Amino acid sequence: MAEPSSSTENASARPRILITGGAGFVGSALADRFLAGGYGVVIVDDLSTGNLRNLRHLDDHPDVSFVQADVSASIPVDGPLHGILHFASPASPKDYLRLPFATLKVGSLGTFNVLDLAAERGARVLLASTSEVYGDPLVHPQREDYWGNVNPNGPRSVYDEAKRFAEAAVMAYHRERGVDTRLVRIFNTYGPRMAPDDGRVVPAFVCQALRGEPLTIFGDGAQTRSFCYVGDLVEGIFRVYEGGDEQPYNIGNPAEHTIREFAETIQRQLGATEITFRPLPQDDPKRRQPDIGRIHRELGWQPQVALHDGLERTIAYFRDDLGIGG
Ligand code: NAD
Ligand code: UDP
Repeated sequence: MAEPSSSTENASARPRILITGGAGFVGSALADRFLAGGYGVVIVDDLSTGNLRNLRHLDDHPDVSFVQADVSASIPVDGPLHGILHFASPASPKDYLRLPFATLKVGSLGTFNVLDLAAERGARVLLASTSEVYGDPLVHPQREDYWGNVNPNGPRSVYDEAKRFAEAAVMAYHRERGVDTRLVRIFNTYGPRMAPDDGRVVPAFVCQALRGEPLTIFGDGAQTRSFCYVGDLVEGIFRVYEGGDEQPYNIGNPAEHTIREFAETIQRQLGATEITFRPLPQDDPKRRQPDIGRIHRELGWQPQVALHDGLERTIAYFRDDLGIGG
């Protein structure tokens, strides 16, 4: 992998995919999937929440290059592009509440920069949207034709509304400029390369259990989430990129769990740990479960990895690769 600020050209003639946010949890897994699928990869990341450790295994790969840049300012990449996967954004509630302006900018200015570059190079664009566009949903499970229930000015709005704006921008470029576009609405995803301190419930509970600390349940733990393993997610994104259309696709695992049940699962897999209760954050969605009928019907995708197995791999990452709890 080329060093930051060096050439962005790959040596081979593979079609090139630009991944914004490619040093993050999902972006780095996408790089692996697209390389396996025959593409070259250019990663642009400002390392605000990502980490070069996630790309270390690609250091000597001839078809990967890296540029450190804030895509809300500019995207300094030359040469032909087959597509741009726009994944740059603070993603965990802890990160986007800490970085509200950067989150709003990367969803708006960053998305415009991506779309202008795509229009200029004739590249396809795939936007990482989110189940947060459904807010605290009044329809359950959530289907793509549900418009959502989002507080437009609460603390989470910096993320939710930035992603809703980004979807609108993508569709405007599709309609007005003929850009070939894809939208994926990603539901809670977990796995190796999550940042241990990003506050999301999977790394939080796994790391707490590994350290012998109490698990911190926010509220009474009756709220639900549906957890998808990252390997399943990136396979779904790859299929949408290659075979999908411009309308949004939910991607997630429909197996729904209360947060209390999830804490009990962690207790079973990692041994007894106490539970403590903390206040529920404002506007925390009460229920969330993807309806994946569209992607299953049209692209034959459904998740393959059960929560127990995905957690085993995630626990191994935090314990063995990062040395947590050792
Ligand atoms: P992450 O924090 O691990 O990755 C985000 C990456 O974007 C980081 O490497 C960060 O440094 C980079 N970045 C942020 N702002 C940038 C900017 N202005 N310019 C360049 N790089 C920038 O988070 P993740 O979980 O991998 O999320 C990746 C994408 O997927 C995000 O867009 C997120 O909204 C979306 N998403 C993720 C989930 C999930 O469960 N992981 C769910 C829904 C949507
Ligand atoms: N949560 C929790 N304890 C934690 C972190 C999160 O109970 O230490 C809860 C959180 O309130 C939410 C759920 O777990 O109801 C998922 O939170 P996460 O931050 O992982 O994702 P999101 O809220 O974006 O779905």
